[in-house]
Amino acid sequence: MPETRRYQIRGVVQGVGFRPFVFRTAESHSLGGWIRNDSDGVVLEIQGNPSQLEAFIEEVRTNAPTLARIESVALLEQRSNGEAFDGFAIQTSERSAQARTLVSPDMGVCEDCLRELFDPADRRHLYPYINCTNCGPRYTIIRGVPYDRKMTTMAAFPMCEACEREYNDPYDRRFHAQPVACWDCGPRVWLRDSRRPEEDPADPIGETAGLLRDGAIVAVKGLGGYHLMADARNEEAVAELRRRKRREEKPFALMSASLDAAREYAQVDEVEAELLSSIARPILLLRKRRGGGIAESVAPGSRSWGVVLAYTPTHHLLLRDELDTVVATSGNVSDEPIAFEDEDALERLPEIADAFLLGNRKIFTRVDDSIARAVTLGDRTEVTPLRRARGYTPSPVKAPFRPPPLLAVGPELKNTVCLSRGEDLFLSHHIGDLKNEATRRSFEHAIESLSKLLEVQPGLIAHDSHPGYLSTAFAREQKALPTVAVQHHHAHMAACMCEHGLTDPVLGVIFDGTGYGTDGKIWGGEFLVGDYGSFERVAQLEYCRLPGGDRAVEEPFRVALSLLQQAHGSFSEVDVPVVNERSEQERQVLGRMIEQGVNSPLTSSMGRLFDGIAALLGVRERCRYDAQAAIELEQLIEPGARADRLLDWELHRDEQPMRVDPRPLVRELAGEVERGAGSAAELSLRFHSTVLDMVLRTCLEIRERTGIATVVLSGGVFQNEFLLRGSFETLSEAGFLVHVHRQVPTNDGGVSLGQAAVAGWGAR
Ligand SMILES: [Zn+2]
Ligand SMILES: [Zn+2]
Ligand SMILES: [Zn+2]
Repeated sequence: MPETRRYQIRGVVQGVGFRPFVFRTAESHSLGGWIRNDSDGVVLEIQGNPSQLEAFIEEVRTNAPTLARIESVALLEQRSNGEAFDGFAIQTSERSAQARTLVSPDMGVCEDCLRELFDPADRRHLYPYINCTNCGPRYTIIRGVPYDRKMTTMAAFPMCEACEREYNDPYDRRFHAQPVACWDCGPRVWLRDSRRPEEDPADPIGETAGLLRDGAIVAVKGLGGYHLMADARNEEAVAELRRRKRREEKPFALMSASLDAAREYAQVDEVEAELLSSIARPILLLRKRRGGGIAESVAPGSRSWGVVLAYTPTHHLLLRDELDTVVATSGNVSDEPIAFEDEDALERLPEIADAFLLGNRKIFTRVDDSIARAVTLGDRTEVTPLRRARGYTPSPVKAPFRPPPLLAVGPELKNTVCLSRGEDLFLSHHIGDLKNEATRRSFEHAIESLSKLLEVQPGLIAHDSHPGYLSTAFAREQKALPTVAVQHHHAHMAACMCEHGLTDPVLGVIFDGTGYGTDGKIWGGEFLVGDYGSFERVAQLEYCRLPGGDRAVEEPFRVALSLLQQAHGSFSEVDVPVVNERSEQERQVLGRMIEQGVNSPLTSSMGRLFDGIAALLGVRERCRYDAQAAIELEQLIEPGARADRLLDWELHRDEQPMRVDPRPLVRELAGEVERGAGSAAELSLRFHSTVLDMVLRTCLEIRERTGIATVVLSGGVFQNEFLLRGSFETLSEAGFLVHVHRQVPTNDGGVSLGQAAVAGWGAR
């Protein structure tokens, strides 16, 4: 007896070829019915015998198109009588009052499109903007909803007849692919070479490859913005790029044509290979291999490369014939946001780029490359994001409760913003450090475009409790809306809880660089107990002076002197290079600053402790990029290693909060350096292992007192692989249930999610 069922399917099911897929599935089962988009996803009716219907829906669940993500399949209605359908139909959608569908992130070019790209018989042979419903741009070109061509930057390109036919054919891979285009109707790329302005080469991409092979630096338009490219095997070209970009030592990312090309210079395991080749195509940090032929100045002193595989058709056309790997770094001058508009790129980058490979498909929202790393945690390998942008935004994180519509504006560094819609928390792409006008504009654009895309009118704004952040100022300027200040490390903890759907109280081990504390001091080595609603600071790293404030972040020797002063009473007594290399005047000034607390705020930052120890051990006294000292201190050791002998430290249990006191450890390390005993690597391993001991013993004490055995690890310091892996393993062995970040960065890039969760919980 045939019956008719009505289903609603939610998730990423629009703009990803979902309806034609259901159409084809229904046809292949010879079932009648219809499907249409609705405000929550798609609704469909399907008619047949119960067993046929089961088989059909099972296939829909399991074989959905690459970009689709089914969150739920709900049976809304079931009836056994009624009219028989004449075949299966795709109904065009009515625009509903509130769009609730999820827009897909931008995706790398798919295998099918790649095959066509290099097929001389295909009508899109070598066409640099080839795409289909399974791949290509999405988030970066959307101006608003509903998601169709009119609302994208492709509106400027009316489809030719052939493209229109594909667009309207449910059997075609390009059915309703909004950015569909071809040589006849779509956007083009061209080369502008400042040294030969009159020339307009017929093969601009081939010409660009030639320039790169000759050692030129070229700005190349990608999905979310411009890259600056140079031949990665040409030491001179890479060094020149560093000079022009004013970027002294911070590693550049590499782009390779294929997995095989990447394997020549980097170690790639199975999980990494899968992630590298995924359509999200993040930059992945991979161990260097010896003799890979990559210029040393790509990532000087680093043990890893940041590697991304070619992800646009242009990249694939560029990276062939003797040029398989290039440096692909963001098209910007240090600290500014990445250029994404042609005029902007031409204006800002001429000092850096010899030539520009331009294109006229406009980017509406600039989005950087994402960065991720695979980490071993116990018996499994987890991927953890370090920067969440292209390929991931705007996929939401599901909150374990339903906050009201709100906006969280994030912290100052590595800023992201977050908007809520129902249980979905939408983290923006990585915006950057809110320190200049350009980044601030990009921050405002992100808020505006994301609210428009999600059709959310926030009724509340959450911000960092730091009074001086630009994001805090922005929140306060929105006079019509109430604001909620969220303590920085509470937000870190809440972000990790939210990712894992936790609502019961947890123990948050939050090791971070800088965050404004409830006592007005700079926090960052915190053991918090609480949930979204509130928290208690049960233990902290002992406060230490930061002579010169922010300058001490760039000059870790200042922190070393302060630690020595604290441990020994006076650093002048200590016979170690970090003291001896200071001038007499420097010693006096810094000594007085620390002594009297002049321009020397107190901090409990774990990040600073790592910096100070790095300077004490002679690893690095001045940083040229964020966290360089701590990174180099970690690079001396292997993530899975453990020292036989720990350093001494104390837990002052009677204080409120308890104090994790590193003074004995500082004295011991200074003694070893004075005696010349132990290499920097050995001492680094002893220090790192001792920090694991601090984590373990402090957590045990807290569990003893509170009975809480669930730990979340968050904060920028957990980008340290040794520490993340070690804390996870040590705590797990001691019977704790340990959660680490998997969807959003552990650094400040994840803070807006936590702000949204905390404010949303309070207002739910
Ligand atoms: Zn495709
Ligand atoms: Zn066309
Ligand atoms: Zn932080």
